[in-house]
Amino acid sequence: MQTLQLKTLSRDELDAFIESLDEKLFRAAQLWSWLYQKNIVDFGHMTNLAKEFRIHLLEKTTAKRLDLIHLNHSESTGTQKFLWQLEDGQQIESVYIPEGSRRTVCVSTQVGCAMGCTFCATGRMGLIRNLSEYEILEQVLSIWDRINEKPTNIVVMGMGEPFQNYENVIKSLTILNHVDGAAMGARKITISTCGIVPRILQFAKERQPFKLAISLNATTDAVRSRIMPINRKYPLKELMKAAKYYSHHTRKRITFEYVLIKDVNDTSEDAGRLLKLLQDLPCKINLIAYNATSGKYARPDEAVIKRFAKQIESICAPVILRLSKGDDINGACGQLLVEKVNVF
Ligand code: SF4
Repeated sequence: MQTLQLKTLSRDELDAFIESLDEKLFRAAQLWSWLYQKNIVDFGHMTNLAKEFRIHLLEKTTAKRLDLIHLNHSESTGTQKFLWQLEDGQQIESVYIPEGSRRTVCVSTQVGCAMGCTFCATGRMGLIRNLSEYEILEQVLSIWDRINEKPTNIVVMGMGEPFQNYENVIKSLTILNHVDGAAMGARKITISTCGIVPRILQFAKERQPFKLAISLNATTDAVRSRIMPINRKYPLKELMKAAKYYSHHTRKRITFEYVLIKDVNDTSEDAGRLLKLLQDLPCKINLIAYNATSGKYARPDEAVIKRFAKQIESICAPVILRLSKGDDINGACGQLLVEKVNVF
């Protein structure tokens, strides 16, 4: 019989499982609290559970953490990049970014990615597989365990396109958001998509409580299709229509991410078009200077970055110029790429 990973279960599914063991329902609430409120995985430490029940759990289930096989730590910023090994030998990365009182975890949702954005290291891997709900949420819980403090924010911006693994992403975040468990606030959880239009519409229609970010990165179809092939399927006009639908339907502000790449999307004309594209949309802009990985693109000069930021400041939206913490350990945007680490 296969061992059940308890963290694949939603709160309701845990109830059903506990009932199937002929245990009282309040045991499910106790177990949920140990797993997510206290972040404990060892049944032996779950002291208010009856000994027989713990033996039952031990025989049939597991709550084990991800296996850490490599950790990079940036002395200058405190950013940490974790390389995990999954049950089937695949590897994924997550990044922990401390900033003032914020403790942000950037999680992966797929092994590799099929979207093929040309500026992104993960895109070069191709898609290997989707992550399970457990593999997604355990990145947060395992980092919480290692840093000994509960993270305050989650950004779903690591390896993979989250909306290509929609069900598992939403389920894992719903578990982390559950008020009787980790209770991570939905407004502190952001999902970033490269622009899968039907999923943006679904996300809006379902009124998911999490925040939405769209990785925009270009202001013409010609450039966007060149650097983000998804644009050939869902061009800018359709994407902006979906963004407006989301904004209207949910009354929430979208964050647009714009990775500034030298001589690709960093001109004054680009800034002008960006202003025009976003003029009627309540939004925030995250301007990110490209982080060089090995490849054909480069980071614009500081003067160009400043000029671009200044030009789009006039938009009603706040512009955040992200300094891309962690680029000294390849833990910044577009830099997550698993180069297999051999542990044996
Ligand atoms: S930027 Fe995101 S969607 Fe594009 S290839 Fe990289 S991981 Fe995939």
